Amino acid sequence: MIPFINIHTHQIDVNYNIISIADWCTTPISQRSNLLLFSAGIHPWFINTINFDKQFQALKEQAIKTNCKAIGECGLDKLKGPDLSIQISIFEKQIALAIQIKKPVIVHCVQAYDMLFAIIKKYQNQVVFIIHGFNQNQQIALQLLKLGAYLSFGNALLNVKNERLKYIFAQTPNHQLFIENDDAACKVEQIYEVAASIKKCELNVMKEIIFANYKTVFIHE
Ligand SMILES: [Zn+2]
Repeated sequence: MIPFINIHTHQIDVNYNIISIADWCTTPISQRSNLLLFSAGIHPWFINTINFDKQFQALKEQAIKTNCKAIGECGLDKLKGPDLSIQISIFEKQIALAIQIKKPVIVHCVQAYDMLFAIIKKYQNQVVFIIHGFNQNQQIALQLLKLGAYLSFGNALLNVKNERLKYIFAQTPNHQLFIENDDAACKVEQIYEVAASIKKCELNVMKEIIFANYKTVFIHE
C-alpha cells in the first residue's frame, strides 16, 4: 500500500500508513528519541545570536543522522526574529550544510520572498528547496516553481473560502508538490482528500503523486 507522506509536522504520529517528517527543534527533548524521521534546522524565530556557534554545532550533530531527512524548517521572516541580514547569513549556512550532506531544505518564509528568490537562484542546482505551508499568491508560486522549488500545501487548503490557493494547487505541476499538516490540528489524510478533489483524481492517485516526489527528493540509492 502506498503510504501518505507528511513532509512537515510538529506532531508525533505513530501511524504506519504515514511517513512523517517531524520538526526536531520544536519536539520536546523528552520525545525526540521517539521520532522515526525528522528534519532539523534553525528556525528564524529561534536563532541564538549570542551563542550561534554552539547552536549550529548541535544542528550539525542531528543533521548527519540517517533518520534526519532534511534541513529545516529554516528561512526568512520579516515579522519575527533577528535582523533580516542575520537571518540571511544563517539561512545560507544551513543551505551550505544541506548541500554538504545532500539533503533537501524545508523553507519557512514570511514576507521576504524577493530575498528568497535570490537565494534559491543562487543554490537551485545544488539543493532541493521545499517551501512549506505555501499560502501565497500565484505570482510567487510561479516564480518558485520556475526556480525548481517544491510547494508544500497544508491545512490552508481545507479553508473553503481560499479559492486562490485551491486554484494555485490545481495549477502546480504534480512533480513539484508536497502535502503536510504542520502544526494544524487536522490529520494529513484530510488534506490529501481535499487535494485529490481539487486535482480531480482518486485519493490513491494523489498518494502516488506525492510518494513519487518523496522518492525523487529523499531516497537516493
Ligand atoms: Zn512548521
